[in-house]
Amino acid sequence: MKLVLLGIQGSGKSTQGSLLSSSFTIPYISTGNIFREIAKEKTKLGREIKEVMNAGFLIPDEKTIEVVNDYLKRSEYADGYIIDGFPRTLVQAEAFVDGADKVIYLELSDKEALRRISKRNDMRDDETPDAIKKRIESFHKFTKPVLKYYEKKNQLIRVDGSEAVEKIFDQIKQRLESKRSL
Ligand code: AMP
Repeated sequence: MKLVLLGIQGSGKSTQGSLLSSSFTIPYISTGNIFREIAKEKTKLGREIKEVMNAGFLIPDEKTIEVVNDYLKRSEYADGYIIDGFPRTLVQAEAFVDGADKVIYLELSDKEALRRISKRNDMRDDETPDAIKKRIESFHKFTKPVLKYYEKKNQLIRVDGSEAVEKIFDQIKQRLESKRSL
C-alpha cells in the first residue's frame, strides 16, 4: 500500500505516520526529515537546502522529485510506504505517477496548528515564527491544489486533525478498510 500524508505543520502527520507504519508494517518516510539530513551535509547542496528550509520555503520541484525518486528506488520501499510531506505541489503530484494509492489529509485550522506548534518545546532551526508562517502560506497556495487533484481522482481521505490522536488513527484505518473493500 502506498500512502501519502498531507496537512499543515502541526497537524499530526508524523504521529499518524508512525502509528500507521507499525499497524500496517509499512515503512514511513518524511521528505522534511530527508531534507534535514541533507541540510547537515557540509556541501553546496547541503548549504542551499538549509537556507531554503530555514526560511520556510519549499525546495524546488526538480530537486525534490529527484531526491524522492532516488529514495523510493530502495528495496525497503518496494512493497509500499507512507510518505509524509510529498507531493506538496501540483508539479510534484503530476510527476508522482502511480506513487499514491490513497492520500490522507489531516485537516486543521491555521489557528489550531499555530497553537499546537507554540506549545512544543523542542523547536528545530527551521521552526522560527517567520518560517512557520511561510510554510502555512505555501500549504494554502501550493498544496491545496494537490488535495483537489487527488480528490478528483477519488483518492483523498479527509480526516479531522483536531480530534484526539487515537480517534484520528481509528478513522484513517476505517476509511482505508472501507475503500479497500469497494
Ligand atoms: P516538513 O518537516 O515536512 O515541514 O518539511 C520541512 C521543509 O522541508 C519544508 O519547509 C521544505 O523546505 C522542505 N520540504 C519537505 N517536503 C518538501 C516537498 N515535498 N517539496 C518541497 N520542499 C519540501
